[in-house]
Amino acid sequence: MHIDLNPKLDFRDVLIRPKRSVLSSRFEANIKRSLRFRHSSRAWTGFPLIASNMDTIGTLEMAKAFKPFGALVALHKFHHPDRLAEYLAGDEDANVFVTVGTGSADWERLAAVKAKVKVPMLNIDVANGYTEAFVRAVARLRDENPDAIIMAGTVVTAEMTEALVLAGADIVRVGIGSGSVCTTRDLTGVGYPQLSAVIECADAAHGLKGHVCSDGGCVVPGDLAKAYGGGADFVMLGGMLAGHDECGGELRYAEQNGHKTPTSMVFYGMSSETAMNKYHGGVADYRAAEGKTVEVPYRGEVHATVEKIAGGLRSAMTYIGAENLKEIPKRTTFILVNAQRNTVFD
Ligand code: 5GP
Repeated sequence: MHIDLNPKLDFRDVLIRPKRSVLSSRFEANIKRSLRFRHSSRAWTGFPLIASNMDTIGTLEMAKAFKPFGALVALHKFHHPDRLAEYLAGDEDANVFVTVGTGSADWERLAAVKAKVKVPMLNIDVANGYTEAFVRAVARLRDENPDAIIMAGTVVTAEMTEALVLAGADIVRVGIGSGSVCTTRDLTGVGYPQLSAVIECADAAHGLKGHVCSDGGCVVPGDLAKAYGGGADFVMLGGMLAGHDECGGELRYAEQNGHKTPTSMVFYGMSSETAMNKYHGGVADYRAAEGKTVEVPYRGEVHATVEKIAGGLRSAMTYIGAENLKEIPKRTTFILVNAQRNTVFD
């Protein structure tokens, strides 16, 4: 048994110290980044925000709404291959990752899409990125898709980040147990505070010319600035994007004078009982659900939410004097705090 006595931090444990800056307005802050990758020769430029491949978040409707922002969507695994092919057809700059797990059905679906169109970005997604079988699957995916931008995860430690980069991942997804509808930490006692996971994994990946995506745990727009400040190249969101028209989750209505207005939407983890009943015919005997089902307020179109996130980020950049995203970690000093804000009106 071993105890690591170094403090490990979540977004809520820190704030970013303001720094003198030459930026006079937040419109001078550039939130687009141009990246080259370790394995793929494809270059990418855009706003490095990724909608999670949860079935109510990683939708084609979300992809269409994200396109004007230059942001990305990791499409969920349950799209019909023809619909994926249709979205990807003729668009070399399609802003989507096609997602697979390690199961053969997913790989067959990918083969069906690849028979029709080029798939430039792939996301290989498992709950636990620590198995030998997963590393082998990443290597095989790289072998079969030498020029695709491949994202793989999730992990939370440097040595496993390195293993995935060396196996063929361009982007490593970082985060275990930090998700809004995740119950892994309660159920298993396993996890890692998200900010420290990002800092440690980004350092490991960058040393190998790899990149990382901070996945899970963002609650407010300021958390994205903290994730980029910790070295994340991309940030993935689930819960912060829930409840919008593009999610396609089940709506709940209130009835007033014969009029039905949407008030909330169902949102659930991909390992929740809801998801397992929907896609796997129930929860298998040998496992327990590691996700929960919640109702979130209905929020209309996602456009305003992305605007707010982008606006928060630009504003953060003017407070610390970062003209572009790449400069954020260089301009970031985290300070440990015991409260985030004034709570008088909570
Ligand atoms: P959020 O942005 O909602 O905090 O986190 C989203 C992330 O939570 C997803 O991208 C995924 O990695 C993770 N996640 C989604 N569903 C589940 C689940 O059912 N169980 C666990 N352990 N994690 C989940």
